[in-house]
Amino acid sequence: MVDLHSQYLGIKEEIDHAIQQVLDSTAFINGPEVKLFAEELGKYTGSAFVIPCANGTDALQIAMMALDFQPGDEVIVPTFTYVATVEVIALLGLKPKFVDVLPDTYELDPAGLEKALGPKVVGIVPVHLYGQCSNMEYILGFAKKHGLKVIEDTAQAIGAVYTFSDGRKAQAGTMGEVGTTSFFPSKNLGCFGDGGAMFTQDPVLAEKLRMIANHGQKKKYYHDSIGVNSRLDTLQAAILRVKLKHLDRYSASRNEVADRYDQAFANHPNINPPKRAVNSTHVFHQYTVQVEGASRDELKDYLQSKGVPSMVYYPVPLHLQNAYLEFGYHSGDFPVAESLCKKVLSFPIHTEMEVSEQQYIIQTVLDFFK
Ligand SMILES: *Cc1c(COP(=O)(O)O)cnc(C)c1O
Repeated sequence: MVDLHSQYLGIKEEIDHAIQQVLDSTAFINGPEVKLFAEELGKYTGSAFVIPCANGTDALQIAMMALDFQPGDEVIVPTFTYVATVEVIALLGLKPKFVDVLPDTYELDPAGLEKALGPKVVGIVPVHLYGQCSNMEYILGFAKKHGLKVIEDTAQAIGAVYTFSDGRKAQAGTMGEVGTTSFFPSKNLGCFGDGGAMFTQDPVLAEKLRMIANHGQKKKYYHDSIGVNSRLDTLQAAILRVKLKHLDRYSASRNEVADRYDQAFANHPNINPPKRAVNSTHVFHQYTVQVEGASRDELKDYLQSKGVPSMVYYPVPLHLQNAYLEFGYHSGDFPVAESLCKKVLSFPIHTEMEVSEQQYIIQTVLDFFK
């Protein structure tokens, strides 16, 4: 699905040098690279404050803690996403209020917000799934009207640019109260282990996020709030500083791969290529099609037998996962998500894809339907 080895070889000298420098300094925790990376990522994204942490799941949890979400409060979240988003909601004693997604762009369906609203709802977590922004103009307007906080889960969409109707542009993760992201190796900006970050434009909130990520302390051994231990390793920060310089090039490569898939599958009766949102650029964390009028699972097995990997992101919507049945949702509650779980299939997409490799993948997909 991804080719992290070839990607590493392409920047090996820079990466090895960066790693060696950290080894020589032995400043493994909170070394200077952590702060430098945060500053550089802030410049890149247009976020006034970037607070690094240990992973994207922690980032979501710390964001909800910093926004003072209290046990019993409810948080609106799409049911068609990675589990991390809803996991931290449940862990903090909050309650997920699920909404459906749009069948063409896979993003949170704004029409579902009104229905999910209630007196206990305190926030919305739009997930910029597969690499493009949700309808932030509507979501932010809705949140403002109802006094809700917005946490953007940008784990899959770092670098995507959203354009508001007045022409203003903003990057994924910089529009809500807090944005969260992950540097898991296969993410668009991935390190060589775990890593994550939070974005905010608000200096007070930035201070709170930083404090909670550091055991609730501003001054060492003086704890003002209950916090967690969530840090980005210096080694990972050093690697990310190198990879950030290549991120635009990587996003462009992913778009080239997506364009070639789009062309190959345009007008195919059984393969429905992903639609691009009109007001967001796409960074194609995943290239996810819908299989129509044929068995998605048989196609997946066939591809595997020919040496072509493919993945189902995600096979079960969160409202129907065993762990979250206690929240009282049922089959049929979110028909789009439930149907997508049966139809979606993601094809390999990465920054080092050779045209010949991709031609083989495309031909194998087409052969299945012959
Ligand atoms: C990867 C991912 C996360 C979690 O990131 P980790 O760093 O693995 O904790 C959260 N949300 C979404 C949508 C993701 O894809």
